[in-house]
Amino acid sequence: MEKSTKFSIPISRRDFMKLAAISGATIAAGGENLSKAAAATPSVKFDDSNIPVIFDTDVCVVGGGAAGTAAAVSSARQGAKAVIIERNALLGGLQTLGCVYPCMPTFIDDSDTPYITELNRRMEQRQGARARNDVVTDFYYGGGQGLYAAESLTLVYEELCAEAGADILYETTLVGAVVENGKIIECIVQTVEGLGKIRAKTFIDATGDALLSRFAGVRTEKGSEQTGRNQPMSLRFEMADVDVNKVCDFFTYTLKDKRMEPPLLKRLKEDIDAGRAPFMEFAKIKENEAFFKQAAKDGKLTEDDILYIQGFSVTGKPNTMAMNCPEMPPLLFSATDAISRSKAIIFGRRMMRRIADFLVSDVPGFENAYISREAGMLGTRETWRIRGQYYLTAEDYWNGHHFPDAVCRTAYPIDIHDVKLNFGKKLSKGEYYEIPYRALITNEISNLIVAGRCASGSFAAQASFRIQPTCMSMGEAAGIAAAWGILRGISANEVRWEDIPQDKRSYVSKG
Ligand SMILES: Cc1cc2nc3c(=O)[nH]c(=O)nc-3n(C[C@H](O)[C@H](O)[C@H](O)COP(=O)(O)OP(=O)(O)OC[C@H]3O[C@@H](n4cnc5c(N)ncnc54)[C@H](O)[C@@H]3O)c2cc1C
Repeated sequence: MEKSTKFSIPISRRDFMKLAAISGATIAAGGENLSKAAAATPSVKFDDSNIPVIFDTDVCVVGGGAAGTAAAVSSARQGAKAVIIERNALLGGLQTLGCVYPCMPTFIDDSDTPYITELNRRMEQRQGARARNDVVTDFYYGGGQGLYAAESLTLVYEELCAEAGADILYETTLVGAVVENGKIIECIVQTVEGLGKIRAKTFIDATGDALLSRFAGVRTEKGSEQTGRNQPMSLRFEMADVDVNKVCDFFTYTLKDKRMEPPLLKRLKEDIDAGRAPFMEFAKIKENEAFFKQAAKDGKLTEDDILYIQGFSVTGKPNTMAMNCPEMPPLLFSATDAISRSKAIIFGRRMMRRIADFLVSDVPGFENAYISREAGMLGTRETWRIRGQYYLTAEDYWNGHHFPDAVCRTAYPIDIHDVKLNFGKKLSKGEYYEIPYRALITNEISNLIVAGRCASGSFAAQASFRIQPTCMSMGEAAGIAAAWGILRGISANEVRWEDIPQDKRSYVSKG
């Protein structure tokens, strides 16, 4: 999963200065435990007299991605009034707008919490196709592994919210928070009407960027403790009119470092025909590398383009491939810098065009293909993470740490896409670590729960817990805990997950 990055494009003076600053930070920062806190995010003091209250509710979930949607549905199912604030016009976040369709496997059995099991069942009904791939599940054991077409997922998410009674406030952007005595009283949002307030007893930060937490003054971190860099960003896209079987014949495929010999390839093709998506790596695989390197030599692609080229066929969308690329060089772009992110998008779109043009001109099966969808959301793997009551680290992963207040389990590797940042050791089969509820709550704010990729952990720990199934399980637990606390008058950061009756918990640690 690791790839080295070459410096092959011109760098602006601003980027150079930034890189120099990062290098300095690297030397100063040292190892994982010497993590650097991110600077506080300023919040405007809002004069609340003129700002109308749009919702006064029990639970306000900010961010309707994988984690936030699970949180809203789960809290509403437990009897709380809930609303999701989402800046876009659909739920799913990276899963839908970011074109990240496959859920990675957790590499451990029994990791699917009830929400995930139900989601898979509903997605199979909606997509008319299995939400899992047989060939892949043979190789990558464990839970997760849902394969969701974005259009179906959004619809299913809206159905789940409607059935649970959770409201959705689309096209609404969080812009601030009002905090009194360590409690968020209301958050301030921007809608088409102007500013508005959302009052709630408990807030769930599922923005992916810990934005609500930052507005509320919670301590956060960003990037690698060793380099100061965030994980690289991608701008994913989809191509239609692809003869996927022909593409299969052209490339050499491996799964788990094993070459796919004809019988397995046959099963892969059967899966494609049945609408179940296989996992396809192009440039990363040794046998295909020469082909892409030649394209770079010929000037059809750049060295950056070929570092990470990966595609998947898409469940429920025949003749379509979703591309997990382009990946923009992490040395040049920062996911926690607004100007840099915009530059990354422009840079990425050019990479996308080159890759698509090359596939059409040089790869059998793509002759008639065209870009049918570009991600409407930048693919940020990691930005800000909170420093919560518990701080997960690589040691928790390596030691397979279990917790009495665990909300889910995973053994997904520490998956860092960057220059020689290798935390390569993997857990053995059957080993896993757990995520404690305390990694979702803070000391600073009593009525806040944080779920998803911005939960509390080091850069390395986040590189494991950031996958969709784990984000969904965290969201599910956040929703249950929020409702449990509200109905009993217990602050979110004083709820003890292990005190909630087992049949009400989405996950119970086996110790
Ligand atoms: C390129 C890429 C490839 C990946 N590949 C895989 C993969 O193959 N399998 C896998 O399982 N995982 C993969 N991941 C990781 C996974 O997709 C994400 O970590 C996960 O989906 C994050 O979910 P989330 O809900 O925490 O955050 P997000 O999906 O980022 O959701 C955050 C939501 O909050 C909203 N929001 C943010 N700010 C505001 C605001 N101010 N106001 C209102 N709303 C706001 C956003 O619009 C968004 O809907 C990948 C990630 C990337 C970037």
